[in-house]
Amino acid sequence: MDNIQVKDKSFSLFISAEEIDQAVSEVAAHIAQDLRGKNPLFIVVLNGAYMFAADLIRKFDFDCEISFVRLSSYAGMETTSKVREVIGLYENLTDREVVVIEDIIDTGISMAFFLDKIRETNVKSVRLGTLLFKPDAFRKNYHIDYVGIKIPNEFIVGYGLDYDGLGRNYPDIYKIVE
Ligand code: 5GP
Ligand code: MG
Repeated sequence: MDNIQVKDKSFSLFISAEEIDQAVSEVAAHIAQDLRGKNPLFIVVLNGAYMFAADLIRKFDFDCEISFVRLSSYAGMETTSKVREVIGLYENLTDREVVVIEDIIDTGISMAFFLDKIRETNVKSVRLGTLLFKPDAFRKNYHIDYVGIKIPNEFIVGYGLDYDGLGRNYPDIYKIVE
């Protein structure tokens, strides 16, 4: 499908499922290099990252654990600077090697909030992995350990990413048609 309609907006094909899979494999290889044998705990940021996380974690052949949090900062197409932990983290992070898994880092504000929260625990290490990164929108300066694909500052949907709750189901990624 080259074009999709989600609510009142049109989107055109931007990143194919094959390209996504390639990027997921590269991220998985880097994570495996760093964390094989260390039983990493993946903390997946819902809702957007569920599809990426499912594909990523299936590429590992060593012990690892997965848990989920839900942060809320986005309303429609605008990032707001108010971040909330809607579903919190219940795992004990003491001495764990944690990898936070995001779908996309845009302004970076939601992750800044969450990374601060994790660093307040007795975690052994915290790494950050994201499928997509918008360098031109990023307003923070923390390090992102694993980046799948860098993209321009445009609004996208598909592969877990939504526009007002819709569009998460598509296996490819689409960008908005202005
Ligand atoms: P940030 O706090 O980095 O600005 O944004 C974080 C969250 O906003 C992401 O995890 C994602 O859920 C959402 N987001 C950012 N950019 C986009 C985008 O282009 N499309 C969609 N659907 N969500 C986005
Ligand atoms: Mg997200």
